[in-house]
Amino acid sequence: MIQTAREWLRAARSVVALTGAGISAESGVPTFRGAGGLWRNFRPEDLATPQAFARDPKLVWEWYDWRRQLIAQVQPNAGHCALARAGVKVVTQNVDGLHDRAGSSDVVKLHGDIWVLRCVGCGESRRDETVPLAELPPRCACGGMLRPGVVWFGEALPPREWQAAEDAVARCDVLLVVGTSAVVYPAAGLVSLARAARVIEVNMEETPVSRLADASLRGKAGEILPELLR
Ligand code: NAD
Ligand code: ZN
Repeated sequence: MIQTAREWLRAARSVVALTGAGISAESGVPTFRGAGGLWRNFRPEDLATPQAFARDPKLVWEWYDWRRQLIAQVQPNAGHCALARAGVKVVTQNVDGLHDRAGSSDVVKLHGDIWVLRCVGCGESRRDETVPLAELPPRCACGGMLRPGVVWFGEALPPREWQAAEDAVARCDVLLVVGTSAVVYPAAGLVSLARAARVIEVNMEETPVSRLADASLRGKAGEILPELLR
């Protein structure tokens, strides 16, 4: 199976990888649905929402500040690095910035970036990699409250990123779907846009994408991707 998949990749002019939390798991960033995904017994679905932020911005920020500290301490793994080295175009649902740190350029971030802060008052965004943040919730120069620059459950995806993702996926010859449970829409719907492409799934488990995929490679992204893209 991996042999055939490698031949598709070798023949491809354009390769895109759609990645999810699973690609960062081996770096030590827990997925939402896997072990270690809970913080103080809150489920991510109860914190990563506009309602939760409106109710208790400090609590939501404490969670993000904890995640930022965790991510700051880890490194991109062999999976991120293999994609960067092979020059694969990355469309990610992750907010951790590990694809950037591995050297991928022009990463399409469908769900935003945990290192970006956005003002709920004036709308200004800025990058801030300070960990931990000095004040929670952090404040903008205008006095407004800053929120994490990520997409929460129930929010629309950033239109420019979505368009870039659609374009890349529709044009590619091979789509790698890596470490995503593919249950979070609309990102998961991107796979069905890759009509002309071979779809290769890399995941430890079967997912809804498995039956759409031309090849399903079961195992760890950090082991399979270097092998696949060698
Ligand atoms: P998910 O938690 O729903 O699913 C993770 C998937 O990765 C599962 O299918 C699992 O089988 C697979 N997986 C786990 N370890 C793997 C490995 N080593 N190699 C290959 N596959 C592995 O994650 P999701 O589908 O990305 O969706 C959850 C949402 O949560 C996303 O929108 C994402 O933005 C967000 N999230 C981001 C991060 C991050 O930035 N690192 C972490 C957690 C959640
Ligand atoms: Zn402001």
